[in-house]
Amino acid sequence: MNKPGDKKTATAGSDKIFDHIVSSVLPTKHGEFHIHVYQPSGETVEHVAMVKGDVSGQESLLVRVHSECLTGDVMGSLRCDCGEQLDAALAKIAAEGKGVVVYLRGHEGRGIGLANKIRAYQLQDQGRDTVEANLDLGLPVDTRDYQVAARILEHLGVKTIRLMTNNPKKMKKLADCGMPVVERVPVLTAHTPHNIGYLRTKQEKLGHMLDFE
Ligand SMILES: [Zn+2]
Repeated sequence: MNKPGDKKTATAGSDKIFDHIVSSVLPTKHGEFHIHVYQPSGETVEHVAMVKGDVSGQESLLVRVHSECLTGDVMGSLRCDCGEQLDAALAKIAAEGKGVVVYLRGHEGRGIGLANKIRAYQLQDQGRDTVEANLDLGLPVDTRDYQVAARILEHLGVKTIRLMTNNPKKMKKLADCGMPVVERVPVLTAHTPHNIGYLRTKQEKLGHMLDFE
């Protein structure tokens, strides 16, 4: 958000939402995507949209809104299922030939930041669960805001979405931000001895819809 005295606030004089938007073709192991980089006005964080096919004007478009998770997405951590969900989303969009992954930076550990996420891991090693650990640290359980995701989808011309998520609250938050969600598409990932406790907590305390059969 802009702060008083911020140079951009002083000079903008417009209702510009993003300071920069740039895009290019990005070949991936899931085929060719277009990568779009968005920087919200007055912020330093850069978000990404991975776009497959012509999405402008689309209804019921397959979409994943993914929160950055360095350990899971990049390092292959088994403490969570983020990397697997991201991979599954890109693969599903590639198979369908059309869709968007909005990749939100600054969402580490449901919004507490990377260092705090690792502090929470220390507490989880001592027996706390993912929700208790945040609370022990005096931090909120979930501070993620989906406003920017809705604006990015709007900018791409997307009308309504089928959201790939196990989290019904994310559907509601996106809808509240003005991006109608017509359907939830479950994201199935493997349970491992490392992430089963984390996944159960997400189901029991955060309302995620997971199948442990
Ligand atoms: Zn993760």
